[in-house]
Parts: sequence; C-alpha cells; structure tokens
Amino acid sequence: MQLRIFFKSFPETSKCPSCGKIGTIRRSRAKNFVELSIKSTRIANFYKCRECGWRGILRKYSVNKYSFITLFFYALLIVSVAYVITQVLKNNFGEQ
Ligand SMILES: [Zn+2]
Repeated sequence: MQLRIFFKSFPETSKCPSCGKIGTIRRSRAKNFVELSIKSTRIANFYKCRECGWRGILRKYSVNKYSFITLFFYALLIVSVAYVITQVLKNNFGEQ
C-alpha cells in the first residue's frame, strides 16, 4: 500500500498538450511578475514546446486513483482514532 497522495510528475518527459509529441517540452523562464509568483509556488511551472511553440503551465504534482484510496484510508484512520479517544475519555471521565 502506498501512503502518498501527491505524485511528482515530470512534464519534461510528458506529451505536449498542443501537438502531442513526447520529449519536446522544455522549461520556460517566467516573463513577468504573475508568472514568477506562479513559479514560486513550486506546484506548477512554465513549459514550452520546441516543436510547435506551445507555451503554458504544467503541474509538477499530480494525483492518481490511488490518491483517493489513500485519502479515504487517512480519513477512516482519523475517524476511528477520534472514536477511540472519545470512548476512552467517556469511560474515564464521563458521567456514569
Ligand atoms: Zn508541441
């Protein structure tokens, strides 16, 4: 079982959203303040396609179907731990 929710993706090796070619995506420098602030979040980055000239934002992290399963297990764990804690508190400090 995996415990991670976010997976690092590598836009450099993924398909170009415009022309669909693989391996043509290169990182692009931020051109203005807005782009710079997006880049500073480290979630996404600017990329450019060498083939067709496409330029845009690609996320550096992605979620997959296992992320939701993991998230569900975390939620289940939190709920069950909370339940156990309330039961222990009730048994020890609650009114009889
Ligand atoms: Zn392209």
